[in-house]
Amino acid sequence: MTQSDTLFANACKVIPGGVNSPVRAFKGVGDVPLFIKTARGAYMVDEDDNQYIDYIGSWGPMILGHHDQRVVDALHAQIDVGIGYGAPTAIETAMAEKICELVPSIDMVRMVNSGTEATMSTVRLARGYTGRDKIVKFEGNYHGHVDSLLVKAGSGALTLGIPNSPGIPASLAEHTLTVSYNDIDSVREVFREMGDQIAGIIVEPVAGNMNCVPPAPGFLEGLREVCDEHGSLLIFDEVMTGFRVARGGAQERYGVTPDLTALGKVIGGGLPVGAFGGRREIMEYVAPLGPVYQAGTLSGNPLAMRAGLTTLEALSEPGFHARLEEKAQRLTEGLQAASDKAGIPMVTQRAGAMFGLFFTEESSVTRFDQVAACDKERFGAFYKGMLREGVYLAPSAFEAGFICAALSDEDIQHTITAAEKVLSELPQ
Ligand code: PMP
Repeated sequence: MTQSDTLFANACKVIPGGVNSPVRAFKGVGDVPLFIKTARGAYMVDEDDNQYIDYIGSWGPMILGHHDQRVVDALHAQIDVGIGYGAPTAIETAMAEKICELVPSIDMVRMVNSGTEATMSTVRLARGYTGRDKIVKFEGNYHGHVDSLLVKAGSGALTLGIPNSPGIPASLAEHTLTVSYNDIDSVREVFREMGDQIAGIIVEPVAGNMNCVPPAPGFLEGLREVCDEHGSLLIFDEVMTGFRVARGGAQERYGVTPDLTALGKVIGGGLPVGAFGGRREIMEYVAPLGPVYQAGTLSGNPLAMRAGLTTLEALSEPGFHARLEEKAQRLTEGLQAASDKAGIPMVTQRAGAMFGLFFTEESSVTRFDQVAACDKERFGAFYKGMLREGVYLAPSAFEAGFICAALSDEDIQHTITAAEKVLSELPQ
């Protein structure tokens, strides 16, 4: 019995499934999760003192690496003066200014405590602003556990085989129209039928909850066009892609401007933070300025703001994203060469510092049905082999991997060498 085995058994007695978020349970690879004791830079150490190169980064936030000294110092300085006040602070405005500077489509921004709150608020705002009820989303995209959006959802819902969760009234789910990612024709079709009832489209501009699927050329531009034609709002869920696939997120990388943006993960530097923002006239609908209600006891918490702002300042340094992308490219090219050499059909995909591995005969994966058809058993065997070699990948064939700035060339080389070994030992 390892320490993780014992701790997991204890956790399962008092926490559903032993975890506070389903994908952490390692169900996608049929294993017991590792309990983590410490993390520094690109590494995490479990309760049995095994060290791993971490390609999850707390599911995205740790873009600088774990325990970045600048973030730690900022947190210490804040703790010395107060943990939280529930009253306005100067740092909240500094944070809002920084977000507006980095993401030009955002004129005004409201801080929340998670990505789920951010997407939930954009959907409510889109409905309130347009006076329409229907929302279009894509199969395999995940936007947090928002009732209206847990319809054909990706991430843990997909891994566990429950893309449509019980507990969501049919009378609510019927307002969510689900179409195929990267298939603009399916979007046009649904708009032809009921465009005048659609408040908006919510999309992961790079899908990261059905592994890593970048947008097909013209797809995001097509969404923009359809929304403009029908007076609907385009919502980019940049909870994962924000400040990661480029400094200004996917909207900068692909040159398409949404009306509203949901942010999370990186924006909190590891603390629980989300945000939503967009065009001024739409954001002016949010209370107390406008009628769409949205609030939060801990929203804009100063500790969270310090960690987040310090992270955004660090990633604003010139060359930050180019360096990150170079690492991601070296990694995916190395992994691709390793699978080619081993004769295991696998394809790697990447957008900035997000990447994915698909065990498939296809030369690229652009659609949800291609993702769903990948060899999950082979992924599970690969995953376990990599873990034995000290490499911590996302424990599901449906999650993207993340690169952090602390990852060294040696770490990448170690990962590629480990993959060569593990892939060559997989059953053909
Ligand atoms: N949107 C996307 C694209 C996400 O990846 C996630 C979380 N993985 C969320 C929303 C929800 O964020 P949170 O888990 O912070 O509620």
